[in-house]
Amino acid sequence: MRGLMQDRPLALPHVFHRAEQLFGHKPIVTATVDGEVATTVAEWAVRVRRLATALDSLGVPADGRVGTFMWNTASHLELYLAAPCTGRVLHTLNIRLFPEQQVYIANHAEDDVVFVDRSLLPVFTPLRPQLRTVRHVIVIDDGSDCPVPDDAIDYDALLAGAEPFDGRFEIDDENSAAAMCYTSGTTGNPRGVVYSHRSTLLHSLITLAADGLGLSERDVLMPVVPMFHVNAWGLPYAGLLAGSSVVFPGPNMTPKGVLGLLERHRVTVSAGVPTIWLGALPLLKDYDLSAVKRILCGGSAVPRSLSEAYRTAGVPILHAWGMTETSPVATVASSRTWYDALDDDAQADARVRQGQPIPLVELRVVDPVAGGIVPSDDETSGEIQAAGPWIAAQYFRDESGATQFTDDGWFRTGDVATVDRYGCVKIVDRTKDLVKSGGEWISSVQLENAIMSHPKVVEAAVIGVHHERWVERPLACVVVEPGETLTAAELRAHLEPLVARWWLPDAVEFIDEVPKTSVGKFSKRTLREKFAGYEFPATS
Ligand code: ADP
Repeated sequence: MRGLMQDRPLALPHVFHRAEQLFGHKPIVTATVDGEVATTVAEWAVRVRRLATALDSLGVPADGRVGTFMWNTASHLELYLAAPCTGRVLHTLNIRLFPEQQVYIANHAEDDVVFVDRSLLPVFTPLRPQLRTVRHVIVIDDGSDCPVPDDAIDYDALLAGAEPFDGRFEIDDENSAAAMCYTSGTTGNPRGVVYSHRSTLLHSLITLAADGLGLSERDVLMPVVPMFHVNAWGLPYAGLLAGSSVVFPGPNMTPKGVLGLLERHRVTVSAGVPTIWLGALPLLKDYDLSAVKRILCGGSAVPRSLSEAYRTAGVPILHAWGMTETSPVATVASSRTWYDALDDDAQADARVRQGQPIPLVELRVVDPVAGGIVPSDDETSGEIQAAGPWIAAQYFRDESGATQFTDDGWFRTGDVATVDRYGCVKIVDRTKDLVKSGGEWISSVQLENAIMSHPKVVEAAVIGVHHERWVERPLACVVVEPGETLTAAELRAHLEPLVARWWLPDAVEFIDEVPKTSVGKFSKRTLREKFAGYEFPATS
């Protein structure tokens, strides 16, 4: 017997029309190069309708890729809906990648047009001659005075000249592509992940759940995580669905800029990678953040010291894990009933676990050698594999012969984790970043956390370096608080009670800053290059 319910596509037009009909009065604020611009969802919706017609007049094909090279702004949110609601595919280009990667990605995706924030033209214009498929460049005037190429189209003029589309957007096939994003290439060449309408809608919906991000109409949302990075973790769509007020930080990503916006707009929910919040930590006390209910933090492990410092400041961090291929939210470390029985120390540890999978995501942790599922004893580690309606099934035009998909259709994340009896995940490392010492694994992430718990340490990254006897041994790259001194022996003394003896780094290099990737994660690749051929002191 068949169910007798309406078969309506799970597609992004619902998000647009819902926001337009119910939340027209809600504000959207964007920080710009020289101030702030306030608009409403109603005004935004008219611009989305104009943009829909404008994409037609530009001749963007039915499933043409609409590239964006933009900050987090209300205009970017216009493209977030106008492109997919008209059947095109939003393609957010990462403004911080190396130029050759940006060119590779835009050509691989075959972007038809690219929308560029004026302040980003100095980065974009040099790429332009190499972009083989881009027919038009449309420039959004964001208050900067960067020179605009003669053949560029002005965004506001384009919208002013376009009649607002006056119907209801329709997407018949919920499995058609809505957006695409390339992996940022921390571990190899960028690969294209193509989100469908269905995956995007389901993912947005679940992030609204109380044990997800719990976003509501009463929230003031500020995604600091870039809109070019996995759709800002899906938050722009989630915010529209919920009817939250939204604040976009634009190019203003400095700690002062971010904290100022949180304070001024009484932001209740924000989100970004740990680096952002680490940078803002010393300034927290100077701002009134009493409205902030939680900060979603992920993209790399949240150090316990960071989590506790924010908690003490009354701005709790909610830890989540995922990746470009998982849309990205796969687990959220929401508070659980069984935490109530734990002492304070164990609760602090629990908060920096990656958490349980959110509904509709299934995870299994697989022994990389034997292949079976590891026991849920929180000791045995293995690779996390993921399945679910917003997990990638394959890469876009993949020539690399990626081995990330198992024969039974699960996605191999490359992340190594243990899992406890509640199915709550703790990432111990990435397969590539584990230090493989004498046939055993040392978790670089856990070692970094232990190092970063030293009060004089600002940040630290651990890499495996070739070792004659042990194959690899850990090298700690440590940044010390300005004006402080720390010796390798002092650090070792700090670590001794915290980690197994054979985990202790064989050497410590004091550096000025841990190099970061385009999205603000520790770039271990850069460190590995920097310390290639490193010789450990003779005693190790
Ligand atoms: P890239 O793979 O290019 O770094 P992603 O942004 O997709 O780009 O990165 C996903 C990876 O980031 C995950 O596979 C994982 O290793 C890491 N990561 C994401 N969130 C967390 C987290 N909460 N804790 C630890 N690692 C995380």
